[in-house]
Amino acid sequence: MQLKNLAASEDSSIPQEFVILLANLAASGECARGDSTTNRMSDPEIHEKYLMEAFDEAFRSVEGNIGGPFGAVIVKDGIVIGKGVNRVTSRNDPTAHAEIEAIREAAKNIHDFNLSGAILYSTCEPCPMCLSAIYWANITGVYFCSTRHDAEAIGFRDNHIYEELNLLPDQRSIFFRKIDHPIAVKLSRTWSEKKDKKPY
Ligand SMILES: [Zn+2]
Repeated sequence: MQLKNLAASEDSSIPQEFVILLANLAASGECARGDSTTNRMSDPEIHEKYLMEAFDEAFRSVEGNIGGPFGAVIVKDGIVIGKGVNRVTSRNDPTAHAEIEAIREAAKNIHDFNLSGAILYSTCEPCPMCLSAIYWANITGVYFCSTRHDAEAIGFRDNHIYEELNLLPDQRSIFFRKIDHPIAVKLSRTWSEKKDKKPY
């Protein structure tokens, strides 16, 4: 079923939030268009195509006991350059979120840490860690489906961490204390004065 038809669907098996998102996407003028295939597709069709790839990743994670129910796809110039699936539990890696995995794969594939111009499709609103990684990677835009509140409702702490970000360091549930150390100053100066560094 095409995305615009899904958006107009009254099928009660489709979560209302998803229907609203699809309607928004169907009305959106933005896209990740580029290759000969996607050039023949409407923007909603493009969004649907990549969202479905992200959902496929997420279902693969759930059904294969790989990790949490999250998937992500990164597209640049109409080409999927990275895909990610949540692997936290199978890899014993708390940072192995779908978006992080997709960013790592995309950067490796294009041999560049700068993903400017790339669009990330995620099955869920990125958590603060992934949000930061998206900024570090210079990703141009993000489309997502479920929200941080939806994630919290099924047992994930995304919203809690977002709330912690708004607190002063001494108010957070994990303590943060500054230690003044002269070598920290030396380290910063070493970087500032380094002639052959590759800034990012
Ligand atoms: Zn994350």
